[in-house]
Amino acid sequence: MTTSTPRIGVLALQGDVREHLAALRSAGAEAVAVRRPDELGDLDGIVIPGGESTTIGKLLVTFELLEPLRKAIVAGLPAYGSCAGMILLADRVLDGTPDQVWLGGIDMTVRRNAFGRQVDSFEGTVELDGVGEFDAVFIRAPWVEAVGPEVTVLGRAADKIVAVRQGPLLATSFHPELTGDPRVHELFVSMVREIC
Ligand code: GLN
Repeated sequence: MTTSTPRIGVLALQGDVREHLAALRSAGAEAVAVRRPDELGDLDGIVIPGGESTTIGKLLVTFELLEPLRKAIVAGLPAYGSCAGMILLADRVLDGTPDQVWLGGIDMTVRRNAFGRQVDSFEGTVELDGVGEFDAVFIRAPWVEAVGPEVTVLGRAADKIVAVRQGPLLATSFHPELTGDPRVHELFVSMVREIC
């Protein structure tokens, strides 16, 4: 572990893994793809990418990563989830499938495909605490319907909560890895540096 160049994994089961690896590198981290439980041990943080949360959940079970990753998060591993990754980090999920599994970690209730019911994808400017104005891309995105007392709301779009932090855990409804603007990844890297 180093504090200057943290080693951050990107869960590489499905979704936009390459874009997160590139964004993390632009933000000053060493970024590695993670597919096996034994790869969790030497990480300073992990990113859970966007994609499809039901599929990522199934693959977490198949690759025997669900429990080890849950335990690592409970033990304090910093994690950042974008879109499907936000769903996977929520303690409560609405509009999931009956057999859907997820990790949990952030005391929030997330509704899947909430924006997607209105419009499949859109771009908008979000004012993010600690980051500033951010051009955000939403794709069949969830929103956060409720948060517990330990959760800090970092940003909203159309009055809905779309970015949150709880201790070492960060989540956004949108995909900062798709816009070439590394500031959300820089925020996560600085959270990881604070902790390690
Ligand atoms: N709607 C997707 C889900 O439920 C998330 C979409 C995304 O990650 N772009 O997993």
